[in-house]
Amino acid sequence: MVTLNLKEIFKTKNKFVGSYSFSPEGIKLPPDLGEIKEPIKVYVEITKEKGGYRIYMEIEGYVVLECSRCLTLYQKDVGKKESLRIEPYPTRDVLYLKPSELDVSFYEDEESFNLTDLVREQIILSLPTKPLCSPNCSAPVELFESKAITLGDLLKRDNVL
Ligand SMILES: [Zn+2]
Repeated sequence: MVTLNLKEIFKTKNKFVGSYSFSPEGIKLPPDLGEIKEPIKVYVEITKEKGGYRIYMEIEGYVVLECSRCLTLYQKDVGKKESLRIEPYPTRDVLYLKPSELDVSFYEDEESFNLTDLVREQIILSLPTKPLCSPNCSAPVELFESKAITLGDLLKRDNVL
């Protein structure tokens, strides 16, 4: 687990740069989401900004997923470049989130910021809810799914709408 003491780091500098390699055991991806087989490489740049920090990160790696149609295992590239803001957990009782704050992550402890949690979160965000081994994977799952008919369909058919 990689933790950073942001408070200490930013006493002496205004930008932190680091490169890490997270082992699959370190990331601890929930097994029902997929499996990490090789280390995930992460490059981070952290700068302080008003009321929090800005984190730029580059993630390189892949997760083994099972195709939701043909059940084949395949590698999903979870590499990405992301810039996000982190802030202390709000202590106000009522929390108003502005649309501009939707890309904010929160940290509990400025002296022990958990980078591993953030990396895991970013990997999970990259995973599709319905994994497909290829965009045109052709196992005929649709044939078995009954077409849902809505009330609107019935009303249209009967010329009520
Ligand atoms: Zn497939």
